[in-house]
Amino acid sequence: MLFSKLAEYFEKLEQTSSRLTLIDILSDLFSEVEASEIAKVCYLIQGRVAPFYEALEIGMAEKTVAASIARAYGVEREEVLKEYGKLGDLGLVAERHSGKRVKRVDPESDSGVLRQNVGVPRMTVGDVFEQLRKIAQISGEGTVEKKQGLLVDLLTKMDGVSAKHLVRIPLGASRLGIGDPTILDGFAKAKLGDRKKRVELEEAYNKTSDLGLIGEVLWEKGLEGVRKLEVAVGRPIRSQLTERLPDAKTILEKFGGEAHVQYKYDGFRVEIHKNGDSVRLFSRNLEETTPMFPELIEGVKKQVKAKTAILDSEALAFNPVSEEFLPFQETTKRRRKYNIADMAKTLPLKAFVFDVMYLDGKSLIDLPLRDRMKKLADVIEGNEVLIPQPGEITDLESRINELFGDAITKGLEGLVVKRPDSKYEAGARNFNWVKLKRHSAGELKDTIDCVILGYIFGRGKRVEFGAGSLLVGVYDESQDEFVTVSKIGTGLTDEEWREIHKRADKIKVDHKPARVNSILVPSVWIAPEIVIEVLADEITKSPVHTAGASTSSASGEKQPGLALRFPRLVKFREADKTAEDATTVKELLEMYKQQFKK
Ligand code: ATP
Repeated sequence: MLFSKLAEYFEKLEQTSSRLTLIDILSDLFSEVEASEIAKVCYLIQGRVAPFYEALEIGMAEKTVAASIARAYGVEREEVLKEYGKLGDLGLVAERHSGKRVKRVDPESDSGVLRQNVGVPRMTVGDVFEQLRKIAQISGEGTVEKKQGLLVDLLTKMDGVSAKHLVRIPLGASRLGIGDPTILDGFAKAKLGDRKKRVELEEAYNKTSDLGLIGEVLWEKGLEGVRKLEVAVGRPIRSQLTERLPDAKTILEKFGGEAHVQYKYDGFRVEIHKNGDSVRLFSRNLEETTPMFPELIEGVKKQVKAKTAILDSEALAFNPVSEEFLPFQETTKRRRKYNIADMAKTLPLKAFVFDVMYLDGKSLIDLPLRDRMKKLADVIEGNEVLIPQPGEITDLESRINELFGDAITKGLEGLVVKRPDSKYEAGARNFNWVKLKRHSAGELKDTIDCVILGYIFGRGKRVEFGAGSLLVGVYDESQDEFVTVSKIGTGLTDEEWREIHKRADKIKVDHKPARVNSILVPSVWIAPEIVIEVLADEITKSPVHTAGASTSSASGEKQPGLALRFPRLVKFREADKTAEDATTVKELLEMYKQQFKK
């Protein structure tokens, strides 16, 4: 496929504000794509040159991209930057210049000859992808110049629309906002005839986290091939998550008598992959975090007695002498990209390992939890850095309460209680894993992770920062949509408003994003990317919000949406959560129901 063809599709995708249309456009696009290109197309749609979990970033600063545009089209760099200031998007600047014939000599080009941006663009998707990958892989001396050279080369071979979309990729500013489930919908529609058949692809996706791989297998071997895809070392498995229940009694009833109890640690989720001497770590949102935690890597090498293994753990700062768990605010200092060796010394992490999904070449995800726990106890030797948490099985409410009290005394968040006979369900959030947390009177038992969808200008002092309240939403998994639950103005300091304003301005969009479903219209829409943790007193029904709202197809009766009463910001959550990791509508509905059970 020609890259210009792909860019035409990008153009259409960018313009729609309906999710169903997104799927139709994707399906049309996918129908034209060959097996050899489908993976590349998927990664490019998401502005990447590798699956999300590969830490391969193209990594070019705005300045460098601006310089590349200037060189490619023979314009002054200042001119490019000035236009960027006006248009807020280097893609548009590139588009504007690429159409023009260049009539002057480019002083920075090697030969100094006249550059003429004419001719038919014939770059294929594969050509562009490979060149972008090359840019991503350059390192060492002269990196910036080399990257710039390759981007200039690409730009001179492109038409305007292609240049516009190309330029956004190295900047990480691709504005298509297409989530993984929507791509799967597109696959299903193009290859299985119906977008609803996405469910048939989901299991493979949860086990492999690689849309490109699924595309390739689906194109080459069909659905049968996809069903055979298995867990593999080096490819993160999507984390299993928890539901909420109010107390031990309810949990035992729900589980039918027996429960597997573990402490709930408040740190970072770390999925550990060991393959001989190579150890890789992944976060809950599937980012590779290997370079961040060298002490964990050493711990795995010393303590894991298996050639290959995948373990699930929570890492946090812990003082083994005083048996003190450090608060999350301390642990979170470790999520950084510099001074790593120093930080590993002053604030070393321990990994509390609570599951094992793969051992010596075999997937364990279909084994019952109680059998996995036996394997866990055997495979980790000692407890210096990796501390195995086999937990305990009980049928007594009193024992669960005792352990809960113990957890709170130790400074932990509470418990995670699991169904002893359950499989490891990659990517699932259901009642096989239940979190039990302490609650303070008058408040919901848990906070809600919301995505900022837009902001509404206020009056008075805050106008200066450009926002009066934030329109926030949660994630509707079944629709791959963001739906609104609240407007928030409380709990933010002036500094935070400024911060939000600065960040939101970069991801401003001129129409409602296709995956946002809202009745309210904010002053400014932004791409759904920023996740905040919100505390509220109560969940109520509201006709102006769309979370959980529905219309019965039989009676036409309308169900109002859910809303948060007295919402306030607790903290920003983006370090470990993408928009799709926000609280889901399904969870919110559960929390709503549980309010009445108190
Ligand atoms: P919260 O905001 O309440 O910490 P969360 O939104 O991060 O929760 P949940 O699904 O609600 O995610 O809680 C599960 C998280 O708890 C897991 O992602 C994991 O990081 C952490 N955790 C700590 N201890 C355990 C454990 N023993 N078993 C499973 N998960 C655990």
